[in-house]
Amino acid sequence: MSRPDPARLTVRFWGVRGSIPTPEDGFLGVGGNTSCVEVRAADGTTLVLDAGTGARGLGYALAAAAGGEPFDVHLALSHFHWDHLQGLPFFAPLYTPGHTVRFYAATDDEHLTGLLCGQMSEPYFPVPFHELAAATETIRVRDGDPFEVGPMTVRPFPVNHPQGAHGYRIEVDGAVVVYATDYEHGSPAHDEGLREVSRGADLLISDAQYTPDEYELRRGWGHTTWEHATDLALEAGVGRLLLFHHDPSHDDATLERIRDRARSRFEATDLATEGLEIFL
Ligand SMILES: [Zn+2]
Ligand SMILES: [Zn+2]
Repeated sequence: MSRPDPARLTVRFWGVRGSIPTPEDGFLGVGGNTSCVEVRAADGTTLVLDAGTGARGLGYALAAAAGGEPFDVHLALSHFHWDHLQGLPFFAPLYTPGHTVRFYAATDDEHLTGLLCGQMSEPYFPVPFHELAAATETIRVRDGDPFEVGPMTVRPFPVNHPQGAHGYRIEVDGAVVVYATDYEHGSPAHDEGLREVSRGADLLISDAQYTPDEYELRRGWGHTTWEHATDLALEAGVGRLLLFHHDPSHDDATLERIRDRARSRFEATDLATEGLEIFL
């Protein structure tokens, strides 16, 4: 794909599905891999948001783009549910000496290391985390406390989700992307925090797992609806809304209907789809 040069931020979707992959006919127009989003600054610094099964394709693409040269990857995790981690054992940069993978998450180093090791431990996976060829680092992030990744300023914020989760607001040269997946509306403090970080963002990537009817049967499961995502987009005055973390029961046709209904409330709405690239 030709790229405007230089985009302040390029966002590419490698996995857009919630809960579990859907490698099935009728689902692949939108995409079957679970959460993984690449955010790239004009200088090439790459921030990866979550490591669902989409991370596998991203890892190969990063390796190909580097042409054999060592590189650094910054990987910010929203939380540790499987659909946000399951691609990690298949993330090629972890297996190459000279690469460094930095993990950012809102927990202490010991806990984060334990979680990463646990996911790849015997008998779940044959290669232990501590035997990976790449160098790895863990970095604790804190609510509302911005950190720098190359030219990007990244601000983590808590969202309402069982066992906790964080979103990230990424800004460079006035371009703002908000990544807010795996949250449920209805917690006033979290809702207000989400509106505040989203205010005026160019791009809001929002959980939209359920229809309003489905939500009534799944209260407390930690996800929101396309309707609330459009409310947030309107209230925060964002430039564009991408519906994300699609329910594994929603095929392409269902998601197109959801998109059309969402557009009737907030016109600049699209579905996050695998392979979609957005330039800011
Ligand atoms: Zn999830
Ligand atoms: Zn989750």
